[in-house]
Amino acid sequence: MTTTFFDLNNVDWDKQQGLMPAIIQNHLTGKVLMLGYMDKAALDKTLNTGLVTFFSRSKQRLWTKGEESGNTLQLVAIDNDCDNDTFLVQVIPNGPTCHKGTESCWKDGQAHPFVDNLTNVIISRKSQSPDTSYTASLFDRGTKRIAQKVGEEGLETALAAATHDKEELINEASDLMYHLIVLLEDQQLSMADINQNLLARHTKATQ
Ligand code: AMP
Ligand code: ZN
Ligand code: ZN
Ligand code: ZN
Repeated sequence: MTTTFFDLNNVDWDKQQGLMPAIIQNHLTGKVLMLGYMDKAALDKTLNTGLVTFFSRSKQRLWTKGEESGNTLQLVAIDNDCDNDTFLVQVIPNGPTCHKGTESCWKDGQAHPFVDNLTNVIISRKSQSPDTSYTASLFDRGTKRIAQKVGEEGLETALAAATHDKEELINEASDLMYHLIVLLEDQQLSMADINQNLLARHTKATQ
């Protein structure tokens, strides 16, 4: 795995009285997991061991996350923000990050791609009458018609790529994505299932 690190000389330690806030993010999913604080020694230990280490304000000592629970955070990358006073730390978590047993310290640390919003709109059309929207009419015509549309848009996407028409490719790929989401919803599945499967494959491949 490639690790990327910022220029350590630019960290504005004085601005944060020697204690930098560090936002911890799952590097594969983008989920925000927790917030901790790092002093210089914690940063050094993190870089030297590859396990995220904080300065614990309650314990008043270096604290390697997972030292008791085993739920460590494997370092992937650290970046400094625009004015050098906050770290973004990307990790691979070993187990739940919150001491309450959940993946993230927030109920919803998830990044929400626009596809999620579109999916919600598509779901809301399921219960609408077919003459109110194209999506509602697709659901009304059923699986066979939706599947056919996915086939058509897939072919149009392939043709756009083959003729090197980038603008057309963006349009046809968008058509394909939209109809694919409709098809998945028609089959009681969603892009979340696909995302989960791709993530599982990736994790298997890189183990
Ligand atoms: P751990 O570092 O996972 O072995 O947990 C040791 C102790 O650190 C726990 O009992 C909590 O008091 C604290 N702790 C662990 N994880 C978190 C977290 N995500 N946020 C705040 N405190 C935590
Ligand atoms: Zn800042
Ligand atoms: Zn927590
Ligand atoms: Zn099309």
